[in-house]
Amino acid sequence: MSRPIKKRTVQEPPKIQGMKPIGVPASFLENVILCIDEYEAIRLADYEGLDHQKAAEIMCISRSTFTRLIEKARGKLAESIVAVKELIIEGGSFSFISDLIRCLDCGEISRFDNPNFIPETCPNCKSANIVHLNQWFSVGREHRRGGRGFRGGHGGW
Ligand SMILES: [Zn+2]
Repeated sequence: MSRPIKKRTVQEPPKIQGMKPIGVPASFLENVILCIDEYEAIRLADYEGLDHQKAAEIMCISRSTFTRLIEKARGKLAESIVAVKELIIEGGSFSFISDLIRCLDCGEISRFDNPNFIPETCPNCKSANIVHLNQWFSVGREHRRGGRGFRGGHGGW
């Protein structure tokens, strides 16, 4: 029996649930799943430019665990671009330390560090038409596993 993976600290949820290749019919698309903790590793090291030691501390994991995590994450990003796959961001072992809401009327994204004080309207325009981004990632979403694959997209075929 494998021991349970300790939850990795993630600062805030991703702002999207995934990305689709441009110009490829949906029926050809396979997908690759980037876990939330893998996304966070990319964000900290490759987007924010932190060294692995610092990024590992922020995620409350060891440096060697972080290095394995980011190598896996980079491999998945590369697979989505080179092998032309839809990138789905979901799953993994993580806990968010803050909440994001997005207003569907004015587009504003607001961050809240206390889960007990999340407003029901947009702080910018007061619209009630808001999405709580954390909830996207708290339940598994239904998605297509299939797809016929993008021709020539996989080196092994
Ligand atoms: Zn708004």
